[in-house]
Amino acid sequence: MSTSLKIRIIDDITVKTSFFCNLCGFPLLTHKDFKQHKEYECCNECYLTYAEARRKEWKDGWRPKQTVLEEYIYSRKSSKTARSNNEL
Ligand SMILES: [Zn+2]
Repeated sequence: MSTSLKIRIIDDITVKTSFFCNLCGFPLLTHKDFKQHKEYECCNECYLTYAEARRKEWKDGWRPKQTVLEEYIYSRKSSKTARSNNEL
């Protein structure tokens, strides 16, 4: 009983949940990331940056341009590095 239940839960997670943001490609880390990913197909950071202000357009399929996105990913990568350097 408990084994089959466990398998069902694991299947459910792998089918419905991706562990990476569809937009920026960063791994989903927090509960908020997973929550936004489920609803908006992106991590919390992307949601706050792009989706929150345009929830309707987002649901209709609007996404930032590839060039905008590349710059955004680049700045996220560098700010992440800067942050972890400060922490060390
Ligand atoms: Zn993202």
